[in-house]
Amino acid sequence: MGSECVAAALKAFGHHYDGEVAYSCPVCGDPKLVYRRVDHDDTAYVVPSSYACRCEIEAEKHSERKKAERKVEELKARAYRGSGVAKELTKLGLDDLDDGLREAAELVLNGLLDEGRSGDGITLSCRSDKGRRLFGYAVVNALCEAGMDVSYVCIQAFLRAIKLTYNDPDGRESESSLLMDKLNASVLVIDGLGTCRSSSWLLGILDELVSGARRAGMKLIATTPLELGSLKRWMTDGDGYIDGLLDRLLQRSPFVSVESIDYEGVERVCSIEKLAKAFRQQI
Ligand SMILES: [Zn+2]
Repeated sequence: MGSECVAAALKAFGHHYDGEVAYSCPVCGDPKLVYRRVDHDDTAYVVPSSYACRCEIEAEKHSERKKAERKVEELKARAYRGSGVAKELTKLGLDDLDDGLREAAELVLNGLLDEGRSGDGITLSCRSDKGRRLFGYAVVNALCEAGMDVSYVCIQAFLRAIKLTYNDPDGRESESSLLMDKLNASVLVIDGLGTCRSSSWLLGILDELVSGARRAGMKLIATTPLELGSLKRWMTDGDGYIDGLLDRLLQRSPFVSVESIDYEGVERVCSIEKLAKAFRQQI
């Protein structure tokens, strides 16, 4: 604010303008100029923002950092909505993954986060249940921290949520609203293909997710404990066969099998230890 502006503003409020006063900020000691305003018997000061001192700049930076953190929290809350993911797990990062999983995560993240965002997704096979989940959470968290819109689907929890809408037809949510919600992002993470018995109903829902993601141009990351042959059988056996489902999945999310340490059997570093409780609540 220029001094004329300040003078005009003060006049408009019925005060008279007394000119500049120099003093030091009592907190950081930076010299400051303020415009003195005399209001009847009281004296008050107006500080133009262009004279922000070190502590004011620091406070401004701090509030911007807080704002950015809140934005990431919102992105994560949206990504995990309806998935029943414990809050502790939203703090997981790549450092919580062992070598093979970390490498796979970095590979896919580099592709998705490069300038053109042109990278492929991944269909990650990992026998360790916890390893597979850790991978999914770490990838979702990293994408949210990079400011990307992500949807996370734990296949079992998602199917349960859809079943609940059948019992409550007048409820706020329906099968299609849950699907639409998950397809409204730039990346879709589907965790746990092959972790429950296949059926025509399940494969129909999965196809809605996969085809919907492909139509919308979303990047797709899927995880499974199965090897490729078993995954294929899971998707094609019985009456539930949907033409081209596996091809649509693998088209831009190539199959990668990762040997992971046995997260279930090995004592992990403390960050994992702390998360064990959260896992127990979920499984
Ligand atoms: Zn200061």
